[in-house]
Amino acid sequence: MTSTEPRVRPAASPRTKSARAIERAGAVIEIDLDAIALNWRKLSERVSHAARCAAVVKADAYGLGMDKVAPVLARAGCKTFFVASLEEGLALRALLPRAQIAVLNGLIMGTPADFAKGALLPILNDLGQVKQWQTYAARRGGTPAMLHLDTGMSRLGLSPGEIRQLAAQTAPLSGFTTSLIISHLACANEPAHPMNIEQLDRFRAALRKLPKTHASLAASSGIFLGADFHFDMVRAGAALYGINPSPGRPNPMKQVVQLKAKILQVRDVDRGESVGYGAAHRMDRPGRIATIAMGYADGWLRSSGHRGTARIAGKPAPVIGQISMDLVTLDVTGIDPEAVRPGAYADLLDERYGVDDAALAAQTIGYEILTSLGRRCGRVYRGGAT
Ligand SMILES: *Cc1c(COP(=O)(O)O)cnc(C)c1O
Repeated sequence: MTSTEPRVRPAASPRTKSARAIERAGAVIEIDLDAIALNWRKLSERVSHAARCAAVVKADAYGLGMDKVAPVLARAGCKTFFVASLEEGLALRALLPRAQIAVLNGLIMGTPADFAKGALLPILNDLGQVKQWQTYAARRGGTPAMLHLDTGMSRLGLSPGEIRQLAAQTAPLSGFTTSLIISHLACANEPAHPMNIEQLDRFRAALRKLPKTHASLAASSGIFLGADFHFDMVRAGAALYGINPSPGRPNPMKQVVQLKAKILQVRDVDRGESVGYGAAHRMDRPGRIATIAMGYADGWLRSSGHRGTARIAGKPAPVIGQISMDLVTLDVTGIDPEAVRPGAYADLLDERYGVDDAALAAQTIGYEILTSLGRRCGRVYRGGAT
């Protein structure tokens, strides 16, 4: 011990502890909370002539951390939040005492009292749930709920037959306040798809038959189908987190996530040598391989083997061979060896190569990339102060 070191070590603050954990992590995911707030404001302004923008924060805010993301959105001005499960709703209620919180998966997730206790709005998905809520709410002065109509997903919500049955009742939806009637588009990411107009027509027709209240049809991509799709509220998830809501056109959203992984080892390989499991890649020339601390257990999907690129010091380093549980191999032939050192980072997601690019390489969608990422990664949040 040198004399400059304090005799009694101060207890490590959570901050320094987490800083050390970040240094030790093989991979680090950086989440820009200001970019999420900016994306919300952008969407909000886009629909502001008629509609409010709600935030969908299910699945831990698409894997990015609901506890960090939701308060930032609330401070940006978001008043309504959608989650999938009752548990997610209760966790969100603890974070946001005053927000309107709706549970997409419906009343089946718990008892009416469970929902009421958290001041959560169930989204009633069938006539049985409507009946159950009416019975409960009647005794409590009309506790509000939302209603989901299925207009073409055959997934959740009242079926066309049930909508007819409901509309035929003398006092449909009596006994409680229906805060919002929602439906969900199947093909909103394909603007020219005929389903969009079909679902819009079916939704309008159903709304005409039911007591007048607020309505919501569009999620992220639906917002970009035009004002007809906006109704009173839009429900944005993916676009908040930087996923392109208008595929095939430039992404109007700001990138939110950066991901970098440590280089563990670098080696020269000869022509004819194989790389990784199954000897699935064989070098057709001598080259250099960098092995990085990222794998399918970290959410770098196995389906992206042989595809996509990382960047090291700004230079592209193509993925070669299969993705292992904890490792990815990159071809770094031709990149300055000074930059490709064990301990240095390879960038996997950044401004230039975003979640949608990684999704293309893995033959999936950005949603799956985000929700898969990072149980083992270090996590750094930027911004979100105001
Ligand atoms: C997940 C979900 C959304 C959000 O969709 P994004 O495409 O992520 O914007 C909206 N509405 C419903 C019913 C959903 O299930």
